[in-house]
Amino acid sequence: MENKFRMYNTLTREVETVIPNEDGKIKMYTCGPTVYHFAHIGNLRSYIMEDVLEKSLRFIGYDVKRVMNITDVGHLSSDADTGEDKMLKGAKREHKTVMEVAKFYTDAFFSDCAKLNIKRPDVVEPATNCIAEFIHMIEVLLEKGYAYQAGGNVYFDTSKLDDYFVFSSAVEKEQLQVGVRDDVEEDTNKRNKNDFVLWFTKSKFEDQALKWDSPWGVGYPGWHIECSCISMKHLGEYMDIHCGGVDNIFPHHTNEIAQSESYLGHKWCNYWFHVHHLNDKSGKMSKSKGDFLTVSLLEEKGYNPIVYRLFCLQSHYRKPLEFSYEVLDNMTAAYDKLVKRIAELKDEGEVDKEAYALYRGRFEDALCNDVNTAMAITVVYDLLKADINDKTKLALIGDLDYVLSLDLLKAAKELKDNAGAGADDELVSFIQEKIAERAEAKKAKDFARADAIRDELLAKGVAIKDTREGVVWELV
Ligand code: AMP
Ligand code: ZN
Repeated sequence: MENKFRMYNTLTREVETVIPNEDGKIKMYTCGPTVYHFAHIGNLRSYIMEDVLEKSLRFIGYDVKRVMNITDVGHLSSDADTGEDKMLKGAKREHKTVMEVAKFYTDAFFSDCAKLNIKRPDVVEPATNCIAEFIHMIEVLLEKGYAYQAGGNVYFDTSKLDDYFVFSSAVEKEQLQVGVRDDVEEDTNKRNKNDFVLWFTKSKFEDQALKWDSPWGVGYPGWHIECSCISMKHLGEYMDIHCGGVDNIFPHHTNEIAQSESYLGHKWCNYWFHVHHLNDKSGKMSKSKGDFLTVSLLEEKGYNPIVYRLFCLQSHYRKPLEFSYEVLDNMTAAYDKLVKRIAELKDEGEVDKEAYALYRGRFEDALCNDVNTAMAITVVYDLLKADINDKTKLALIGDLDYVLSLDLLKAAKELKDNAGAGADDELVSFIQEKIAERAEAKKAKDFARADAIRDELLAKGVAIKDTREGVVWELV
């Protein structure tokens, strides 16, 4: 098929046309969450944009296979192999076993993803499922001379590579400084500063909960090996697109490339997609800071999670994004208005094939322009304004929403079903005003006022209910 999808490739630092290894097929890998805590909405920004990437590729006709790991062992507190295992930290905090913590937060992660309409990847594999594969890869790396044993651990020898800093030495070295700052102590077993652990039998941190037998003694894998092995297990030796957040570029993705290509003896993955961070006013969000924003918190505050998705889509994935409730309020208003306009469309007439192709084409162009989601949403607004019949508009919105995944037709139907239950326009706008007032009151934690508004509506024969899609009402 014609390859017209263009995307920024962190490896070449250029926007390039993606040419898959196999015509019409894309093999894609996503670094999954470390399941020691809830995902924060920053993590979920990365997963939303990766979801849009996957759906864009499918939308333009590729057969996509996407694989994701679940990090349930080996990710230490610092990305540079020092500190306590994050999973154990979670287990201690919650007085549970590591596997209980992993199960709980894996389920919580997918439940958050479902609320944000993030599709589950075709394959999801926890790191602890693949210990035999990790051991095999480490054995081969030792045999080929890319790894060495020291102080009981196995390390990757970065001095064996001509070009270890594959992404851009400037970016990686800058991030290396961050890593160094996080470092508790220098590991004196390492021959070179950038060498990283493939297998631990001894670390400064001895009481690791999960351990496995290996040719080098009882221990556990380093963090990076899981992504190399899990991707090869399901996608083979050649991969097209690898995704993650920008913090993964170094050391994680740099190390994945080092070990994968040394193991394989050839190039591994051609295109690297990195999502920039969501920040709050105080800076980067992080799970280890303890106080972070989750989808549940947004829901508690009365926000529809889909509005957060819209917020992410309105900005480009390659720009940092600052979160604020003010902007989320504006997005809620924009979303409600958009849904209202769609609810006003009449499902009548014939689909105008020419207009359909024109707008679908424009939408594809926006996606093929380095996943320009804001431009793709503009196409939806242009379409609503366009002089084409409602049937065509509705058909297009249903089609385009596969990628946007904003529940546009579903929310419009719910709005119509509500409004259609015998209420006149005046009553509908009164109800909407009161619902908005109640949301304000709830946000200000004025629950007495919120309850009073509910009662005032009930007195007029209108019952309201809080649901995942927002507030719904019916005449009683
Ligand atoms: P973790 O669970 O820490 O392994 O991170 C899961 C994913 O979220 C990784 O792809 C990270 O790169 C990404 N990530 C971490 N922090 C942020 C943030 N503030 N904004 C966007 N993505 C992030
Ligand atoms: Zn990874």
